[in-house]
Amino acid sequence: MKIKFLGGADEIGSLGMYVSYNKTNLLFEYGITPSKPPKFPLDSPKPDAVFLTHAHLDHSGMLPYLTLKYNMPVYGTPLTLELTDLLLRDSVKVMNLEGYNSPFAIEDVENLKKLYINLPYRKKIAVNDLEISTYNAGHIPGSVIYKVKDERTFLFTGDLNTNETRLVNGCDYPEADVVFIESTYAGKEHPPRNMTESRFLEKIEEILDRKGKVLIPAFAVSRTQELIMVMEKLGMEYWVDGMSNTVNQIFAKYGSYLRDAQEFKGARKYARKVRNKSDRKKALDSGIVVTTGGMLEGGPVLYYLEQIKNDPKSGILITGFQVENTNGRMLLDTGFVDINGVKEKINAEVVTFDFSAHAGNSDLLKFIEKTKADTVVLFHGENREALMTQIEDKNVILPKPGIEFKI
Ligand SMILES: [Zn+2]
Ligand SMILES: [Zn+2]
Repeated sequence: MKIKFLGGADEIGSLGMYVSYNKTNLLFEYGITPSKPPKFPLDSPKPDAVFLTHAHLDHSGMLPYLTLKYNMPVYGTPLTLELTDLLLRDSVKVMNLEGYNSPFAIEDVENLKKLYINLPYRKKIAVNDLEISTYNAGHIPGSVIYKVKDERTFLFTGDLNTNETRLVNGCDYPEADVVFIESTYAGKEHPPRNMTESRFLEKIEEILDRKGKVLIPAFAVSRTQELIMVMEKLGMEYWVDGMSNTVNQIFAKYGSYLRDAQEFKGARKYARKVRNKSDRKKALDSGIVVTTGGMLEGGPVLYYLEQIKNDPKSGILITGFQVENTNGRMLLDTGFVDINGVKEKINAEVVTFDFSAHAGNSDLLKFIEKTKADTVVLFHGENREALMTQIEDKNVILPKPGIEFKI
């Protein structure tokens, strides 16, 4: 089997993995890095089929570009494909709004949609002489691990979470000879989730007690819904602004991909939807707003930041990883953010919480051990060496983008 990463090997973003076996060619993921400017993977030769593990743009964001040249089936769970369509449409809008040339247009997103084929959890299909099956990856609802079988078996994890969260069950542990595993948290561990949840809820109450506003920027896909389930314990109404409201509806439609669809439904009762600009004032007056964008880059969050920036009683609860060169990262590093081209000092309290949906270092080691693989390929990480040195008695490969290798 010959493998070439088109991107996303030694970094988080622009992932693409091209696999050739005899005359069969498969492409796993084809993402972008939604930075400023956005970054793209290397061009892909024509695959016989594309397999997508989940909707996040670092895995899916470049798929419409393929349709400019090729025609082939694109597999994913029904939930993944519906979320991907939503995120791709938004990404074309954002790229154009920010003045970057999107490498594809809305029509290409439409064309891509015609190629989608649903592949639910724990199903099997064949592409020529390769057999492909799916397992739960535990990362976000609908995310999968792919298992490919020729005379050997290999796993491709996409993004992985071994631990159960409010929203999804932890991943399955399929066995294989070779495991391709994401390494986002190589060398790093997460604090226990129940401690993070308590700290988060206590901080909200503390800010409300001192008569401040609580601003919670959160990613639209999965993070917002996880928080909605955590915030049920508050037992009070709050507002949700941005694309997350559409994602809430999509998740509700695919309840079988959630850990507990009834619990999600119950928790959503407290989440009021911001429908228009005049709702935004009401939302902030009420005390708590959960809003996109998760890295403070654009969208409704900027309105709320503008309103609370000079109020030390208010608080901004950061719930996701803040990538370099984003507004969120700048806030954490310098205390300033860019609001519509003006650099503003933020006097509200800023607190971070680790609600990551990725396996920590020891979880990754546990997963590798349970697969019983003899060969491990580490990708989707900036610190893969930290994990590599802890893997014993296995052949470990750290691929580089653009360089083909054989297994
Ligand atoms: Zn992801
Ligand atoms: Zn990812």
